[in-house]
Amino acid sequence: MSRFLNERLQCLEPYTPGEQPKKMKLIKLNTNENPYPPAPGVEKAVKEAAENLRLYPDPQSQAPTEALAQFFGVNSEQVFLCNGSDEVLAFCFQAFCDGGVAFADITYGFYPVYAGLYNIKETVVPLREDFSIDVKDYCGINKTVVLANPNAPTGLALSLDDVKEILQTNDKNLVIIDEAYVDFGAESCVSLLKKYDNLLVVGTFSKSRSMAGARVGYAVGSNELIADLNTVKYSFNPYNLNRMSAAAAKVAVEDKEYFDECRQKIIATREKVMKELVSMGFKGTESKTNFIFVEHVKYKGKEIYDSLREKNILVRRWDLPRIENYLRITIGTQEEMDVFLQAMREIVGK
Ligand SMILES: *Cc1c(COP(=O)(O)O)cnc(C)c1O
Repeated sequence: MSRFLNERLQCLEPYTPGEQPKKMKLIKLNTNENPYPPAPGVEKAVKEAAENLRLYPDPQSQAPTEALAQFFGVNSEQVFLCNGSDEVLAFCFQAFCDGGVAFADITYGFYPVYAGLYNIKETVVPLREDFSIDVKDYCGINKTVVLANPNAPTGLALSLDDVKEILQTNDKNLVIIDEAYVDFGAESCVSLLKKYDNLLVVGTFSKSRSMAGARVGYAVGSNELIADLNTVKYSFNPYNLNRMSAAAAKVAVEDKEYFDECRQKIIATREKVMKELVSMGFKGTESKTNFIFVEHVKYKGKEIYDSLREKNILVRRWDLPRIENYLRITIGTQEEMDVFLQAMREIVGK
């Protein structure tokens, strides 16, 4: 730390991203990337966009914004594109959380980091013993609510009725639903926007659209909420979405067929892997995401993690209370998961 860092940042604990190994022969199941390539037209669109690199990109990101609006059946004033959904979330914490923010004890690690960065008072709401969310905890909580749905790293999803109850009982508060994993088996809250103006839905191209490297995220909400996000964006970095990523995003959204094919493959692989792991003595949550969250009845999480690492397989775990023995395993291709399962059989002796 230099002697120049502002005092309010001196205790800030930054987010720790999952490892991005330089060694490429690893089977990488640690950061929930999609194992399949982006939609077929994406590469060509990126190359064409690169021909105009000397020019600034469109600050409104009009082409992908319109494509996304059409995909969700909303108007384009209701859609906001960003440099990854992490940036959308950062803008939300700046724009909507001065009155305090509430989120779960076990959830996406960036929420407490943003609260710290922007000096926002946080209310941490414990999940139930089985990692489910008790909706009642959020009813009338009188703070901005941020929920990952499905949640990470637990993989569990709330129903639309549950989200409705939170929205109805927080009429004066904004409810932000982070749908990073929604395309792998949960229901999107975008359909609730017609009825609830206190809802903002956040999403990403990093997982279900195989574009983590492009950094494209979005928010969908009322025209007014989106105008507020634009106020923050134009006060910070009007050109946050680069040319190549904007072009890639448009093409990716328009290819509905490829999108459906990829997510169905991942869902099918997930179900097979989970069944195999259960037969080896693992138990876990009912994941609606592109990862599974499991612990073994006998072996410690750290032991299994280390043994997998020795076999060149990378998964994710945390030294945190309640979940220290759990592993979060991203669903790769069926071939990758066959190698993973064989390694696991060797480790747990089945
Ligand atoms: C991956 C993830 C994000 C961040 O996505 P980017 O668009 O890559 O920044 C946001 N929220 C949750 C819950 C995530 O898992």
